[in-house]
This record gives sequence, C-alpha cells and structure tokens, in this order.
Amino acid sequence: MYGQTHAGLGWAIGMLPPTSDRRLRAWCTIAAVVPDYDAGAMLFGMDAYVRLHHKPGHNVYFGLLFLLAAYPFFHGRPLKQRWTAIVLISLALASHLLTDMKLSGWEVYLFWPFSERGYGFQPILALGHPINLWLAGVFMTLPWLLALWKPVTPLELVSPRLDRIFLNAFRKKSLACSTCGTSCNNRCDTCERPACMKHGRLDWKFRIACPACASP
Ligand SMILES: [Zn+2]
Ligand SMILES: [Zn+2]
Ligand SMILES: [Zn+2]
Repeated sequence: MYGQTHAGLGWAIGMLPPTSDRRLRAWCTIAAVVPDYDAGAMLFGMDAYVRLHHKPGHNVYFGLLFLLAAYPFFHGRPLKQRWTAIVLISLALASHLLTDMKLSGWEVYLFWPFSERGYGFQPILALGHPINLWLAGVFMTLPWLLALWKPVTPLELVSPRLDRIFLNAFRKKSLACSTCGTSCNNRCDTCERPACMKHGRLDWKFRIACPACASP
C-alpha cells in the first residue's frame, strides 16, 4: 500500500475508542507509516535500498521500540485508556506490516536483524497493482467521512484551530459578526466576540482576531 493509504488506516484506528483524542490519533497515524522510514536507505543509493528494503523499519523489534517511545505519552492516563493506547498503536503498526506482506511487492523481514527470512502472503501483489490505487482512494476518503461520526479531521494534526475553522465552514452560522452583523460561526480567540471571515484575521497559528483585538 502507499504511504497515504497506511496513514488513513492508522487515523481510522485512532478514531475507534470513545476516549480517542488528538494525541492518540497522532500516534496511531505515525505508527501506521513509520516502518517506511527504512525507504530512506534510498539516499545511500539503489544498492542500499534493495539490501535494506523492508528491514530496519519492518520488524517486530522496531515495533517494540516504537511502543516504548510512545508509552510515556500515555503513562499518566487511567489504566484502561493506557491499555487502549498500547493496543491501538500496536494495531496500527501491525496494520502496516500485515498489509505490506500482501500488497507492496516485497516480503517483510519480520525478525530482522536476527533473521534474514522474509514473510509474505503469496501471491504478493505489486505496488502498481490496481488494488493499491483503489485502497488509496478508500483510505484517503475514510478519515473525512469519519468526521460525520466524530467532529474531527486529520487537519487537527496540523492545528486543532485549523480543523475547527474547516469544520465550521460546513456548520450552521448561528452567530452575528460583532463588526458587520453578517452571520458567522467563528469567534475571536482573544475576546470571544463573533467574527466573520472578512473581519476575523487569521495569524499563522490559525488564531482568529477580531478588528479590535488585531490592532494593538
Ligand atoms: Zn512499508
Ligand atoms: Zn464581519
Ligand atoms: Zn477580539
């Protein structure tokens, strides 16, 4: 599968629990794509790429190290949430290895560096197989459809404020801009007065400022 397909699947996994939040969704999304870091071997030439393909990132030991790195971020949570995080991040990692074993034209070296044996579900389909295009379409669409279930999209990984502005664009405009009275649904992040898209100024952190708060 392509990187964006893995990412969409990881996001969907992070959305599953009722306690799903940005941190969990981010870790699940990263877990679903991180094994591909070994494709970076390409920087050292085609030889290195072929020799290391599906090795340093695509094995269970790297997966365990990744879980260890993720754990402190969930340590302070109630036991059930902590376990949910561990299970879902593991699932996201496994989703990458298992789908690669069928859909990426190459065996996966699950126990590298201790074993050079490759694993795969034969017949392994090439990355160029039409099913990979189809899956990319499905898993790049899915996160946006899931927003109908829980009001959040992958834009929150960039900025939760950006995501809120995006989602508000589809929502009812039940406020009136404090400057011009036009109906709107965003508020100034400083004074909380409603601001329409014309009068609310956005800064690079996606914070909205009404004209009064924008001019010092
Ligand atoms: Zn991969
Ligand atoms: Zn206005
Ligand atoms: Zn303001």
